[in-house]
This record gives sequence, structure tokens and C-alpha cells, in this order.
Amino acid sequence: MRTVRALQRLSRDLVCPCPPLLFVRSWSVAQSQSCSSSSAEKPMPGNSMLRHLTSKIKATGPISVAEYMREVLTNPVMGYYVQNDMLGPDGDFITSPEISQIFGELLGIWCLSEWMGAGKPSRFQLVEFGPGRGSLANDILRVFSQLRGALGGAAVSVHLVEVSPKLSQIQAQCLTGDQSQVSASEDEPVYRQGTTTTGLPISWYRNLDDVPRGFSIYLAHEFFDALPIHKFQGTEKGWREVMVDIDPDEPGKLRLVIVPAPTLASTQLIQADEKRRHVEVCPEGGVIVQRLANRIAKDGGAALIADYGHDGTKTDTFRGFKSHELHDVLASPGSADLTADVDYSYLRRMAGATVACMGPISQKDFLKNMGIDTRLQVLLRNCADPSTRAQLIQGCDMLTNPLKMGERFQFFTMLNHSRLTRPEQSKRGKKMAPVELGLS
Ligand code: SAH
Repeated sequence: MRTVRALQRLSRDLVCPCPPLLFVRSWSVAQSQSCSSSSAEKPMPGNSMLRHLTSKIKATGPISVAEYMREVLTNPVMGYYVQNDMLGPDGDFITSPEISQIFGELLGIWCLSEWMGAGKPSRFQLVEFGPGRGSLANDILRVFSQLRGALGGAAVSVHLVEVSPKLSQIQAQCLTGDQSQVSASEDEPVYRQGTTTTGLPISWYRNLDDVPRGFSIYLAHEFFDALPIHKFQGTEKGWREVMVDIDPDEPGKLRLVIVPAPTLASTQLIQADEKRRHVEVCPEGGVIVQRLANRIAKDGGAALIADYGHDGTKTDTFRGFKSHELHDVLASPGSADLTADVDYSYLRRMAGATVACMGPISQKDFLKNMGIDTRLQVLLRNCADPSTRAQLIQGCDMLTNPLKMGERFQFFTMLNHSRLTRPEQSKRGKKMAPVELGLS
């Protein structure tokens, strides 16, 4: 509770003595989730992707849903993420950092408080997975810049794990202006580098393995839901994998089939005590979480995974989004986003005991604990423009209202075990909670 109050105090102090941060991104589309389609103007890579997938299936037989998702989303030539800027009103979906600046600001405070709770290590890496348009990192870095007194002399650096060259360019523009350069060779683990507008070194990677080791705060917002899932159906003969095949009645169409024989995935990925009849598993997400857990245990730090998800209860969540509307997952592949709810019970199992796993808790609870109400009041106090005030209020409502994004989105954290020691023990171990550092 004391820490919560300290965080809320930090959120409130954020504007003082700096001018209020009033820019709220476009969010009106998200209010209805059903804005008019803009797909007519978008490139439609669907046909070439469909041709690519059907020739693959003709050559090797039905492909797993995971392979389908991987090809559709991240194929290096025609993948959905590689080709498109899909975020925002003119795209296919909108995310919390795009809805209100307050979202990123509060996550910035969370990062700062985790760094303080770890005893203020002298080097501090901010690592973000799938940064989209760079909005979340941008809001966080503004917080770091405004509270640079709290950061002391720590050497802060920014590391982005991004598969899309197109989005990395947009991120670079947002975070560095024109202060970044692409690497000479495509094979370099760091494919882009620069300096943020707030003066911090920033680098782009395709894989976590290429990010340097060291104390890090890892953030993944709407990243795990884009990772490939396998789908399984319980049958009277046991678990069978759901795969993607060519529709024999319409050769230009794809369909989902349950394959008759077990696959490696169906024998390896289902828990012995599984009670559901339909299960989705994201092994790639599991591997990333294991690597994060290992890094956090050895190097210190924390990870925050925020996504729509469940705790091992949901069944069929695989879906497509195009122009803010649901879209058939198999129709014109490559032209729409594909996503599946994150199974936090699976991620927790993959993380194991090397780190302390907390949550998932709802976005509403997380943001309320972080002081979203206080922060909103401060911004409103400094803002006279009626339309900006209305935007601020509606943005917060969108993020926290249980009927909007408040309950659907879940926050899950992995912490170094030392972070959970009680304050008395922390003092002995020279690790202090923010409240003890005179920040509240
Ligand atoms: N976090 C942002 C964007 C979410 S969209 C936001 O909330 O607004 C998903 C992001 O993850 C995009 O930036 C996409 O290019 C990236 N991405 C998807 N799959 C990836 C992968 N396998 N490796 C790295 N980045 C990936």
C-alpha cells in the first residue's frame, strides 16, 4: 500500500514544474471498434500470400496454425507486420498507448519504481518488444526525462525488439527524429542505432538473444498475442492438431482441418491434466518468457506483459482484425491482423520458479494502482481547452472502464525474487522501496 501511494505521488509529481502534457492521440475509432473500412486504399498482399501458402500446402500437406500465423504475420517479404503500419484510425486496430499518453506515462513510472526497488543499479536498459509506432516508448522516455533527477546518474539505454522494417522506421522517426542509422549489413544483430530525442542511446534488434545482458526492464504490450499459436482439439482418440489446408471444393480457399494422426506438437504441448476440449498453445511465447525469466534471475530487472488474455480457461480465441472489425482468419491472408488471447497460466508455467510471477490483474486495477485518477486530475487542472479535457477523460475511461478495455486487458509481471523481500530485509540488503528513498 505504501508503495502504491508512493507511485501515485510520483504520477502526480510528473507535471511539476514541467508544463502539462496535453497531446492525446486519436482514439475515437476505438470507442466503437467498428469504424468505416479504409481497406480499399490499403495494399492487398492477400493474393500473393495465398499463392505462397497454397503452394506450401500442396508441397508438404496441411500446415499448423502456428506456421500459418508466422508466415502471414512475419514472412520477411510479404508478412502483414513487415508490410503495414496497421495501428491507429486508418489501420486495423488501436492500442492503449495510442489512446492516451497517460498509459505510457504510468508505465514509465512503473519502470522507474522497479529500477528504484532494485537498488538503483548504475546501468538500466529499457527493452520493449514489438513497439508498434513507438508511442509507448516515447511517453516513457518523456517521463524519464522529466524525472531525470530521480534517475540520478544512471546510464539508461533503450533496446527495441522489432521484426518489421517498416515499423522500425516509424519508431525511429518518433523516438529519434532523424538521429538513427540502419546498419550496413542486413545480418547485423543490431539493425538500426541512434540517439533518442531525450539523448539516450537506442538500438533495434530482431531477437531478444541479441539484446545485451544486464539489468533491464522488459515491456511487451500487445506483443505476445501476435506470436504463433498451435491449436488442438480433444477427440475420442485423444488430442489432435487443428491445421490449415486447401479447401477441396474451392482450391483458392483455405480451411481448418483436424488431422487424423497425432503431431509432435499435439503429443508435446498439452498438459496431462488438461480439462478443456479445445486448447491453444504459443510455444514461441513460452520460449521468450523462459529467456526473460533467466535474464531477470541472473541480471536483475523485471518484465511487464500486457495483453488481452486469460488464465488457462479460454478455448478458441484465434481471430483476425481488419479496419477495426473482426475478419475471417483464413480470408485474404496477409491483409488482416491475426491474434490469439495470451494464456497467462502457460506463461507462468514456462517462467518457472526462477522469478516471482505476479498477476494477471486487470488493466483497470493496474492503472488505478499506478495513480491514473490522480494523473488525470493534474492534467485536467492544467488544461482549459474543453475538447482536450473531454479527450483526456474519454481516453482514461476507455482504458479503465470494465466494459471497454479495463477488464479485457491483463497485466502480468515477472520480478527478480529479491524485489519481494520485506522493507526491513531490504534495508539490510541495501535494496529499498521507493517510499524509503524520499520520493513520496
Ligand atoms: N506494442 C505496440 C504494437 C503492438 S502490434 C502497441 O501496443 O501499440 C505488435 C508489434 O509486435 C508490432 O510492432 C509488430 O511488428 C511486432 N511483432 C510482431 N511479431 C513479432 C516478432 N515475432 N518479433 C518481433 N516483433 C514482432
